[in-house]
Amino acid sequence: MRLLLVEDEQRMAQALCEILRQERYQVDHQADGQDGLDALLTGIYDLAILDVMLPRKDGFAIAKEARAAGIQTPILMLTAKSDLDDEVTGLDCGADDYLTKPFLTKELLARLRALLRRRIPTPDGALTFGDITLNKAASTLLCGENSVRLSEKELRILEYLIVNQGHILTREQLALKIWGYDSDTEYNNVEVYLSFTRKKLHFVRSAVEIKAVRGVGYELRCGHV
Ligand code: CA
Repeated sequence: MRLLLVEDEQRMAQALCEILRQERYQVDHQADGQDGLDALLTGIYDLAILDVMLPRKDGFAIAKEARAAGIQTPILMLTAKSDLDDEVTGLDCGADDYLTKPFLTKELLARLRALLRRRIPTPDGALTFGDITLNKAASTLLCGENSVRLSEKELRILEYLIVNQGHILTREQLALKIWGYDSDTEYNNVEVYLSFTRKKLHFVRSAVEIKAVRGVGYELRCGHV
């Protein structure tokens, strides 16, 4: 699970990053509202935690603009007591939940789990597209009677493509989603893993293809359609 934290107060941000990483979430931190919005708009996050008062752009505006751009990522707003009057504004602009500072770690983690649970597409964690089913728990790709084990990265690539079906994903989006900001992955590594993933699709004799859209990115298509 990859989380985005937008918080300008350095000590708070550091503490939160530490807590979240201990809980095995991957966390990217932005201290500025505009940078936070830009990060959220990449669409690579499973959840965003937004402070309200931020330099350049406040949390409400970030949520509003992200929703207007079609970003569905669940948003948890962190508010100061003085922001409480703005709660309605915040909910109106597309935030999914609220947490008032100061809060207990336990409370924060419970809210995150609740928000993340909400977006899991099926109870058993299986995702489907065309003739394929992705069993995340077993890291397996299934097509009819055929099945094959996927590496962690192949699993994440297919999951990301299925969740975003109907959209073209850029190579940069894929690189960010699979390797994250911290890595110095060359973009052609994306090609390498896409080619592994295509071989797995071929192996299970699926009609689903990862189509390259020249100069734009990649999209999942079902060959029979
Ligand atoms: Ca702040």
